[in-house]
Amino acid sequence: MKIAILPGDGIGPEIMEQAVRVLNALGEKFEMETAPVGGAGYAASGHPLPEATLKLAKEADAILFGAVGDWKYDTLERALRPEQAILGLRKNLGLFANFRPAVLYPELAGASSLKPEVVSGLDIMIVRELTGDIYFGQPRGVRTAVDGPFKGEQEGFDTMRYADTEIRRIAHVAFQAAQKRSKRLTSVDKANVLETSQFWRNIMIEVSKEYPDVALDHMYVDNAAMQLVRAPKAFDVIVTGNMFGDILSDEAAMLTGSIGMLPSASLDKNSKGLYEPSHGSAPDIAGQGIANPLATILSAAMMLRYSLNRAEQADRVEQAVKKVLAQGLRTGDIYEAGTKKVGTKEMGDAVVAAL
Ligand code: NAD
Repeated sequence: MKIAILPGDGIGPEIMEQAVRVLNALGEKFEMETAPVGGAGYAASGHPLPEATLKLAKEADAILFGAVGDWKYDTLERALRPEQAILGLRKNLGLFANFRPAVLYPELAGASSLKPEVVSGLDIMIVRELTGDIYFGQPRGVRTAVDGPFKGEQEGFDTMRYADTEIRRIAHVAFQAAQKRSKRLTSVDKANVLETSQFWRNIMIEVSKEYPDVALDHMYVDNAAMQLVRAPKAFDVIVTGNMFGDILSDEAAMLTGSIGMLPSASLDKNSKGLYEPSHGSAPDIAGQGIANPLATILSAAMMLRYSLNRAEQADRVEQAVKKVLAQGLRTGDIYEAGTKKVGTKEMGDAVVAAL
């Protein structure tokens, strides 16, 4: 099994180092090859997604990605900014299904901004469509309005669109994810206002007939945003489009108190995937050895489960993370009085030791 290791920028290399140590501690020899991406890609060869990096990502069985972005690249033209590397990888590899779990370990219940009884033990999965919707729909741009009350003025516009096949394939992925969990799926849309959403909802209902064991319900996105902070544990698997998923998955991440704990996976139709922490490159703490490596380590666990077919090893890594939390070890982002503050490497050491 070949794994492409793309550490990226900021804290990316520090957290990736620990995830690689954890993979090496599993007792199996994975072939791992490292390549620059994001700002590091631009610095190495003038593009955030260098050709050699894309080639490696295409050849590999799975990709473990750190994070990209740094303030020093903010003045580059948009096409050369580090964040374009992720969009390029998603597009080139056809990674249309984004899995964002939001899990709150009981030991960290105090880190959430919600009351512990509302969130303790939270374990939900958001399945977000990643390659369609208003983020990619054409036409888009700025033009002179040709009609309406603002005729003659400049106006910005985007296009929300979803094709039948695009909705169907994410629906199947989400129903199958629900089958492996508590067999409940909530499809989130805005069908009361948007044609695209009504179409989405109709297809979800059609596909649901192939999964009679899964209970499907529907929720408008504004209500879903509310319910996520009112009673998040009422959800199990949520499936939604690209834009709504972008917003709801960040909201769900915050319920858990630390973005430094949350992994994510983006899969293609054959379950080849890119695995990355849900957070960014945290340039404010880069190079200080204090970043939390657990989201990246848990991303490696997701990679073992979904792309490398090694569920048992994934369980081992997840159990090891639980164990170090139970031992009271915390990086600064999840630190509370009465626990022991450790740095990035010490946290990696502890997970390896627990393994
Ligand atoms: P961020 O997630 O990098 O940081 C937000 C806050 O969370 C910061 O205070 C940071 O110190 C903290 N934080 C994040 N990860 C942490 C960790 N593992 N351990 C401890 N603390 C952690 O978001 P931002 O500041 O909005 O963005 C910084 C850069 O990252 C930008 O250039 C942005 O474009 C980029 N970004 C990249 C990705 C990605 O690579 N997938 C995602 C989001 C943002």
